[in-house]
Amino acid sequence: MKAVRLERVGGLAMCEVEKPTAGPDELLVRIEACGVCGTDRHLFHGEFPCTPPVTLGHEFSGIVEAIGPAVSGFSVGDRVTGDPNIACGRCAHCQTGRVNLCGNLRAIGIHRDGGFAEYLALPQKQAFALPGDLKPTHGAFCEPLGCCLHGVDLAAIKPGSSVAVLGGGVIGLLTVQLAKLAGATTIILSTRQASRRALAEQLGATATVDPSASDATDAIVGRSGLMPGGVDVVFECAGVKDTVEQAMRLAKAGGTVVVVGVMPQGMKVAFEPFDLLFRELKVLGSFLNPFTHRRAADLIASGAIEVDRLISRQVSLDEAVAIIANPPAPGEVKVLVVSQG
Ligand code: NAP
Ligand code: ZN
Repeated sequence: MKAVRLERVGGLAMCEVEKPTAGPDELLVRIEACGVCGTDRHLFHGEFPCTPPVTLGHEFSGIVEAIGPAVSGFSVGDRVTGDPNIACGRCAHCQTGRVNLCGNLRAIGIHRDGGFAEYLALPQKQAFALPGDLKPTHGAFCEPLGCCLHGVDLAAIKPGSSVAVLGGGVIGLLTVQLAKLAGATTIILSTRQASRRALAEQLGATATVDPSASDATDAIVGRSGLMPGGVDVVFECAGVKDTVEQAMRLAKAGGTVVVVGVMPQGMKVAFEPFDLLFRELKVLGSFLNPFTHRRAADLIASGAIEVDRLISRQVSLDEAVAIIANPPAPGEVKVLVVSQG
């Protein structure tokens, strides 16, 4: 079968590999769709640790083609998605329910073969059934939506909360929608690309800001800004130093900053401890998607979360190498690799 393999940092190739078989407690999944994520590009450039050679792709959905003898609750023909993050279940973090912090975490598409391939062997405990009539492309959004759900859960948004989201990529645009579902009545998105700002307004943002045209901090919390005095919750979804520093200034006293964006290891940002103390800011990190996959699947299947408008392009497996090895095209939000079958 065909698979997009990271052979070494900077070395990504379409390879012919042996079709996997389902182990005793695994499902053999015929991949229908797999999303290209910024992390795939980070892996290609060696900016995120992984264990090559490995088939990339951690945002996948597909159809069960075979099941191992110890599998129960799944049948051949089921449409499924998978939580790529495999926790050990034995360490102190796992045993206290904090599986995303597991010290022995191994991820599908990072440490073991993932979804940019025709087939994937998926451990049963990582699999989630999807409605049979759900579009395959929608199933591929469960993983990123699960990450955003964890962030929104941590933020504890209340009905009537005010929220700012910094960064209008797929993570920011899903977070805008979740903030609205959680009851926020003011949702401000800051991102440079006009097409993303327009999309955010269609998806629930009550206002948008172009950080390249004016001082976004002033435009949001300045005296004549959108929310003078600050917002209850700020989501940093851009993964850049400027937006982390800005997030601290946008939160109101007693407010919460949730860092979702991934910054290069070793990057430092400036903040004033006095400010943190004096304004009692809560600064939280949100990592991965512990126990959020089922809810993500339900939110997508019910239509409560819109994903169609986030899909910029659907491409074949043959095009995946070029897409991952190059920066995203302007205006692009999510590219999905879809099977031609
Ligand atoms: P993305 O498409 O790169 O979105 C981030 C966007 O932020 C950029 O495309 C850019 O859009 C915008 N941006 C850049 N500088 C900005 C600034 N100064 N002010 C406002 N916006 C700015 O990536 P994504 O897929 O949405 O992911 C977002 C971040 O979350 C990434 O760092 C990713 O690695 C991380 N992530 C974290 C988790 C987790 O578990 N915590 C899970 C998945 C992804 P414009 O060009 O429109 O400005
Ligand atoms: Zn563990």
